[in-house]
Amino acid sequence: MTHTIHAKYALTHVLNAHGTFTPLGVSRSSPSVQRAVAAALGEFFIIDELQAAVSERVARITGAEAATVTHCTAAAITLAIAATMTGDSETGIAQLPDTTGMPNRVIIPAGHVVNYGHSILTAIRLAGAVPVIAGTQSACTVDDISHALVGEHTACLLLVSSRLAHGTPLDLGQAVAAAHACGLPAVIDGAAQDLRLDELLATGADLVLVSAQKYLAAPTAGLIVGRRDLVRACRAQERGIGRGMKATKESIAGVLAALEEREHLDVAAWRAEQDRKVRWFVEQADAIAGLTATAQEDPTELPFLRVCLHVEPSHRQETASALSRALRQGSPSIWVVDRDAAAGNLILELGPLTDTEIAIILSRLAVLSEA
Ligand SMILES: *Cc1c(COP(=O)(O)O)cnc(C)c1O
Repeated sequence: MTHTIHAKYALTHVLNAHGTFTPLGVSRSSPSVQRAVAAALGEFFIIDELQAAVSERVARITGAEAATVTHCTAAAITLAIAATMTGDSETGIAQLPDTTGMPNRVIIPAGHVVNYGHSILTAIRLAGAVPVIAGTQSACTVDDISHALVGEHTACLLLVSSRLAHGTPLDLGQAVAAAHACGLPAVIDGAAQDLRLDELLATGADLVLVSAQKYLAAPTAGLIVGRRDLVRACRAQERGIGRGMKATKESIAGVLAALEEREHLDVAAWRAEQDRKVRWFVEQADAIAGLTATAQEDPTELPFLRVCLHVEPSHRQETASALSRALRQGSPSIWVVDRDAAAGNLILELGPLTDTEIAIILSRLAVLSEA
């Protein structure tokens, strides 16, 4: 089916070893998720019932009180901030993004001001809130957060759990406790960390936000998980600023199917399969002249390995960024992470790729390093 779409519209055939990258379509849904989405498109539903089914499943899997589906996590951030400002006040909801008379300061550690395509500060401001940055780029202590929280008109604390965060890692549990000590809610953007949802909820955060289209491999959607009253207040924003951030019936149906698969996933077998692909790739790639391949743990504790390819400077193969460019320009177009190319390193995520596709990447690497 994929090939039909690509051929019909003359689209580039992509091998995505870049991870859950939005410009490439993020992830690959399983056949059962694809079927659920296709089936939903031909039906009518009471959307509240679809939403309730997700809430009930997430509650069963995680022990959280409630959940709701939004258009994506960027939307979920704006809606969660809005919920902490309005609660369930209908006048407040209708009034946003005008925050007159409401608490509107959102505290965020400097190292958590991430850019996932836009700055997270934009997602805060879209609700009408005012971001207040705590600490510095290199360090933000729990004390820095406490100081910022005590200012008047504070709505909530926003934290980010992501590889994109910088500076000395913050203890999220302690930061959440600091917010609670001031009687304020804490929200965690854990967009790419649905595999760590339990750990993020265990910090005591009032709301945790994850993207369903990343490792859960559902259609594009954001999941807001946590306190029942706040989840309800997020959903109520659809009568205000949230109208353009709503989830579609097909995305909710896809999320339900993906959650069902996740619930029954044999985690040990899944990890073993991920490891097998990475170790096979590393062994083969390491034998290519000019390349050193290693398996790397995820720095944010996601439970799988990535490949690090080091392009040796002595070899006449050009630099890592030239190699990345050449991989992209070929057919199929192979995408790897080249953020650290200046240091000679390329990172690959193999999770969604088949053995056949991995073999294509290996043979392209071999050809390019001989060129
Ligand atoms: C991907 C990402 C987002 C945005 O998620 P979308 O579902 O694409 O809107 C927000 N924050 C972080 C840390 C991300 O990695």
